[in-house]
Amino acid sequence: MSEQKGGIFSFYFKSNLLVRILIGLIVGAIFGIVFQNASQAIEFLRPFGDLFIRLLKMIMVPVIVCTLIVGTSSISPAQLGKVGVKIIIFYLLTSLFAIIIGLFVGTVIAPGEGMMLENIAGTAKEAKAPTLVQILLDIVPTNPFGSVAKGEVLPTICFCVFFGIALAFCRDSKDEKVKNSADVVFSFFEGMSEVMFKVVGWVMQYAPIGVFALIFIVFSKSGADAFGPLLSVTISVYIGLLLQIVLVYCVICLIYKLSPIKFLKKVRPPMVTAFVTRSSGATIPVSMETAEKDMGVPRSIFGFTIPVGATINMDGTTIYLGVCAIFIANIVGVPLNFSQQLTVVLTAVLASIGTAGVPGAGAIMLLMVLESVGLKVEAGSVVAIAYGMILGIDAILDMGRTSMNVVGDMVGAVIVAKSENELDMEVWNR
Ligand code: ASP
Repeated sequence: MSEQKGGIFSFYFKSNLLVRILIGLIVGAIFGIVFQNASQAIEFLRPFGDLFIRLLKMIMVPVIVCTLIVGTSSISPAQLGKVGVKIIIFYLLTSLFAIIIGLFVGTVIAPGEGMMLENIAGTAKEAKAPTLVQILLDIVPTNPFGSVAKGEVLPTICFCVFFGIALAFCRDSKDEKVKNSADVVFSFFEGMSEVMFKVVGWVMQYAPIGVFALIFIVFSKSGADAFGPLLSVTISVYIGLLLQIVLVYCVICLIYKLSPIKFLKKVRPPMVTAFVTRSSGATIPVSMETAEKDMGVPRSIFGFTIPVGATINMDGTTIYLGVCAIFIANIVGVPLNFSQQLTVVLTAVLASIGTAGVPGAGAIMLLMVLESVGLKVEAGSVVAIAYGMILGIDAILDMGRTSMNVVGDMVGAVIVAKSENELDMEVWNR
């Protein structure tokens, strides 16, 4: 799409997508406020919003399948060794803290509470609340293809993780034949991921229009009141990110007798790069340079921990998923109960592993987290409208969460180096 030059739409495709989405949000809100309860306009615009939701749903399962398989299989078991195992446990634990913080902040601030969207689109379907044992059992698919076809999130993830790990082992096989065929399978899924992200790129070209339609409906129905929830969800996400720095990263630094202030000063270049690019993947070179030149992490450690972190460690995204799940559940009038929150813990940590380090990837994972707790994002549904509200501000949230994703990778690199006695203290103390 963006390749179309000189056509009548060239102005649209050439302008910055982020800016366009924000314009869609602002113009949608203004028009909605001006044209209160404009039922004809709402009916006219509804299909435009529905189309956007359908396009997103179309890419959800293929994106999850491909990125999770590529994510889990890109870690070679042979390379893992002590450092690898340490960093993976570290990443999983910090992600676990992140989702707990996300849910905690979401519960305390309760963004979206009080603004009941069911007045806008009819009542939300009561999210069914399975028991904990059932949740755990349901994770294992009896027919993985059936789960993929039905878009059942947790069983699909479960299968993809098994598949990805097995694929990693096969790619490491001493048997040439097994290794070669596994490499083909890996390349296939890698290629599929690339293709899917191309499609994601196209779908996102439609985002400004979809966001405009969805936001218009919200504001036309509820007036300026809808600003409050959007502001509170943004504040909640950023407070969660701040807590992750203070309560998790700084405390870990202190445990390992490293100055958190020094760490925060040194981590600024990758943090800022991630903030502006909204891509952990694109920030890798800056992260590596900082790890080596400013922090004194040896190449043997950052060469593994940073790329792996940029692929599977997304603490900021995890916080965002927790807060947004609570926000959407509140706004549709079906707050998450305890077992649903546990499901969110599980899906958000797994989703963060499957989130690609590219702008906006987390928003697709949010679809998956919502589905896992029974909040179905169906065109025209109240959940879809709430999701559309989040998408309208996603760029602002993405900047913060990507920064935190990268900071999480950097802490991991430094701590593993320190625990292995390989941190160059001369460089660190500079
Ligand atoms: N943009 C994030 C990253 O690159 C992923 C996300 O959208 O959450 O780390």
